Amino acid sequence: MSCDFAQHLNEAQLRAVTAPDGAVLVIAAAGTGKTRTLTHRVAWLALERGVEPRRMLLLTFTNRAAREMLERAMQLIGQDVGGLWGGTFHHAANRMLRRHATLLGYGADYSILDEDDSTRLLKACINELGLRDKKFPKAEVLGSVFSLAANRGADVAETVADRFGAHPVDLTAILKVHTLYEQRKRALNAMDFDDLLVNGLKLLQEHESVAARYQERMQHVLVDEYQDTNKLQNDFVDLLASGHGNLLAVGDDFQSIYSWRGAEVQNILSFERRHPEAQVIKLEDNYRSTPGILDVANRVIAGNPEQYQKVLRATRPAEVKPVYVKLVDGGHQARYIVGKVQQLLDSGAAQPSEIVVLYRSHYHSMELQLELTRARLDYYLMSGVRFFEQAHIKDVCSLPRLAVNPADSLAFMRLMEMLPKVGPKKAQALWRDLGQHVNLRDAAKRAQLTKLLPKDAQPLWAEVDAKIFAPGEGEGDVLDRPAELIFRLVEAFYRDYAEETFENAEQRLEDVEELMTFAAKYDDTAAFLSEMALLTNLDAEQNLHAGPPAQTIRLSTVHQAKGLEWKAVFVLWMVDGMFPAARSLEEAANEAEERRLFYVAVTRAKDYLWLCQPRMRKTREGGVMLCPPSRFLAEIDPGLLQEEKAGGMGAVPRWSRW
Ligand code: ATP
Ligand code: MG
Repeated sequence: MSCDFAQHLNEAQLRAVTAPDGAVLVIAAAGTGKTRTLTHRVAWLALERGVEPRRMLLLTFTNRAAREMLERAMQLIGQDVGGLWGGTFHHAANRMLRRHATLLGYGADYSILDEDDSTRLLKACINELGLRDKKFPKAEVLGSVFSLAANRGADVAETVADRFGAHPVDLTAILKVHTLYEQRKRALNAMDFDDLLVNGLKLLQEHESVAARYQERMQHVLVDEYQDTNKLQNDFVDLLASGHGNLLAVGDDFQSIYSWRGAEVQNILSFERRHPEAQVIKLEDNYRSTPGILDVANRVIAGNPEQYQKVLRATRPAEVKPVYVKLVDGGHQARYIVGKVQQLLDSGAAQPSEIVVLYRSHYHSMELQLELTRARLDYYLMSGVRFFEQAHIKDVCSLPRLAVNPADSLAFMRLMEMLPKVGPKKAQALWRDLGQHVNLRDAAKRAQLTKLLPKDAQPLWAEVDAKIFAPGEGEGDVLDRPAELIFRLVEAFYRDYAEETFENAEQRLEDVEELMTFAAKYDDTAAFLSEMALLTNLDAEQNLHAGPPAQTIRLSTVHQAKGLEWKAVFVLWMVDGMFPAARSLEEAANEAEERRLFYVAVTRAKDYLWLCQPRMRKTREGGVMLCPPSRFLAEIDPGLLQEEKAGGMGAVPRWSRW
């Protein structure tokens, strides 16, 4: 099988693909075919140079990206590239560690702690040291600081001091937690995600024979999204390629968006110094986006003048300009997008899978998820948890669930386990003692429940019960009014519980308010719940394995959208404090990264782009807050955008007073 490379590639791309052995850096802006170049390099090495796929290592940002690239390469080569190592840095490090972990004092069968596991373990360490206190940093926060230190290859104490800055924290105590956490992981024969990188690198650095083995095996190392490598990853790559020097790295410093996780754009900028023989190739033709979209992208990134400036030329003909739309509030924004999506689909302008909605933070998408749900438009979340599957939503729904179905043991146990001194065992015992049936309409049964609770939980629950079942305004039984029921649970109990339990309680409580707005449309708890169950993606698990379904639109954070492209892109919440995120308003370096993030968002679009700017946000107290437009919008010449007036009122009555 042969492949006409010159047909598929432009001159600069072809130069990178057919470069002789040695180091090559392709540095080029979005959509110029960097990833395409990598894929073709794999094919070219196999077809023209006879390199066996098993002697290549392809490092990408996600395993999904690796799979896609391998498939593409396979099509080009016309044969299997099964032996090729392709995946994330974590994936590659893990493969090596599985073989050699004993050299580092681990058992070969070490387990891997996911984020949730490691947070739990950290929590246990904090408790064990008697540090559980409102003022002591939460496990999630410590986890992210420890992780940052690991990824930067930096000192933990310094990183902690850096992170907490002006806030007084007990550094000694934090370091104790760190030490205990490290010991516990060792004792468990477990590694967290960061350990995979740390230990993978250590293996190569400290064990020459292992390093030699992989340097010999991996004759060609190829890296995508090189701008987002951190110090460990960079050292890992340099070490693996150090013998033969065959390294192809492609990246775009404009798109460096992971510095908060320790990525260092310096890795790309210092490449030539570290590899003096390297060929540096620039790609300047963008094949992805219409000129109107590129004009906006170029304007956006011009706000970061210190970046390595690159030209970006359009190859596609001019079409419509990107749309800038001002909306009343988040609800209006959600309805506007649903309307536009429907238009795109009805007119045949785009297939569902060619449409994406992008946002700065996952929680920005919640209102839209609810609106899509109401409109019965299915969607695929590229990351994060679907609205109805979030822990706090399930928490507050446990009460209505039990109200509708007194035999719902899962709901009962979830509800009880939120109480002090009630764990899974105790909850199970309660369930048994109550005859596996708890009818909330039965006051005697409820009294029996309160009596059976541990001493620490009794007065609390008695009060909650009294508040929930107090005769209130509004007609009918509270158990039949889902919004009211949830409202009472939140006021009587859940607000305090959330504040004690979650780092981001405020955000979660906002979601619960959204849920109440949704529930207020039902005057029948059973109907509300069955609607919710139908809307909860029952085959989410399946999707995870099978990849996104073809017939749904995508919702994604900008970070997760990296490297991908869609025909139509909506960017949500273009307001200061959301995009750019609030934390970036404090430091210039952060603002520059937010700008790059916005650049990534804009450059995902092939044909259509909408920038949405709501003018108000709801506040917890039920009021509204004016939102200043994103500073990035002001940086785009108005002539480059077409402003659209969205009709229809924004504010919809909130779960208007029971
Ligand atoms: P990003 O910076 O967003 O990761 P990229 O530089 O990796 O972008 P690709 O995703 O490789 O860019 O390419 C963008 C689009 O342009 C893809 O659809 C790709 O197939 C197409 N493309 C790239 N080069 C060419 C070419 N020479 N001829 C035709 N289409 C091309
Ligand atoms: Mg790419």
